[in-house]
Amino acid sequence: MAGGYDVIVVGVGGAGSATCYELAKRGQRVLGLERYDIGHAMGSSHGETRMLRLAYFEGQTYVPMVLRAHQLWRDIGAKLGEDLLAVTGTLDINAPALDIVDKAEAACKTYDLPYTLMDAKAIMERYPAFKLPSDYRGLFQPDGGFVRSEKAILGYTALAIDAGADIHPREQVLSFEPTATGGVKVTTNARTYEAGRLILSPGAWISRFVPSLEAVTTIYRQIFGWFLPLRPDLFAQGNFPCFTLKGDVGNYYGFPINAHPGFKIGGPQHGREICDPELLVRESRPSDEKGLRDCLAAYLPDALGPAMGVKVCLFTSTPDDDFIIDYMPGAPQIVVASPCSGHGFKFASVMGEILSDLAMDRPSPFDLSPFRMSRFAGLA
Ligand SMILES: Cc1cc2nc3c(=O)[nH]c(=O)nc-3n(C[C@H](O)[C@H](O)[C@H](O)COP(=O)(O)OP(=O)(O)OC[C@H]3O[C@@H](n4cnc5c(N)ncnc54)[C@H](O)[C@@H]3O)c2cc1C
Repeated sequence: MAGGYDVIVVGVGGAGSATCYELAKRGQRVLGLERYDIGHAMGSSHGETRMLRLAYFEGQTYVPMVLRAHQLWRDIGAKLGEDLLAVTGTLDINAPALDIVDKAEAACKTYDLPYTLMDAKAIMERYPAFKLPSDYRGLFQPDGGFVRSEKAILGYTALAIDAGADIHPREQVLSFEPTATGGVKVTTNARTYEAGRLILSPGAWISRFVPSLEAVTTIYRQIFGWFLPLRPDLFAQGNFPCFTLKGDVGNYYGFPINAHPGFKIGGPQHGREICDPELLVRESRPSDEKGLRDCLAAYLPDALGPAMGVKVCLFTSTPDDDFIIDYMPGAPQIVVASPCSGHGFKFASVMGEILSDLAMDRPSPFDLSPFRMSRFAGLA
């Protein structure tokens, strides 16, 4: 048995890589265990980019966290010599009966964030790529943008190793158990380790580790793709923002062109198919491409060129779409983290601080009460 760790982190993905770094930076002896390669396409974080919005329509509790995450992405990017965060502005658009814009505006008002309300005409004048029904409206927030998610995981992992963390890729955690001395024993397909604390950040596999979460987490197969625009200039950074769109054709989001030659778009509604991450076939289907093309045909026709790639990814959703961040019931030496429901990556940087605080029994500066497991009936 290998011992001597203060903390073991299960899953070196978005949240786990940042946590390994933060703990090592704080002088903790850390082991990060990752089942696949560091930076892989089997979980929830691949596909080059993830959006970071400050006008947080999912709930105002998230705004202080996302403000801190925004700062950390810039700090870590500077440390790595990489622009991990691209500030492009974010535009949230909705059809008349929907309330995304109202919720985004409320978050901006509460936290004194700059924003501009735009009707469809103003959006199409400023961003000619959009073709919107005249009664759609939007909220533009200038400070949001996107995080380079794959570079972020690689970067955080490199920094963690530099700070002294042991990172074991391609080593699968099979089981864990609390020890009589208040620590944990973790068994992988290679060996057994002991540590004082355990952080579970295994993404879509969370209920494999915490079976009681099976009742309140659903894994959805998700689709995104890159399309070569007919007019790439309309989708270039500077001419096009990150956007979310809740419209009559469906819910979509997209990014200005980054390193990939195509315009990236995703469609959470078209991928709302429950799946098992162990059994999922990760090849896309022709119907996946069609679902994305439906959005382009309706709202972004100048992007209707060839599909450069269509990928499958995983959402881990809770009934209220809020995260799970808590101690394991009955085992306070184990921290459980599921920052997902389709909007978690932007928080990975601040999640490193939050999970480290929990593992080190330090008070969090953030209100974590909405993320407790006890909000779900039967989970104390
Ligand atoms: C298509 C799509 C679009 C999204 N868009 C956005 C967006 O625009 N903005 C945003 O903020 N969020 C977005 N999200 C959500 C965001 O990507 C996720 O919330 C985030 O990636 C989750 O990070 P994680 O660390 O929990 O999971 P992951 O990054 O998947 O990491 C979990 C890790 O645990 C490892 N693991 C699992 N089991 C074991 C085991 N037994 N042993 C060892 N390791 C194990 C996995 O291999 C994996 O590497 C999107 C998600 C998807 C799928």
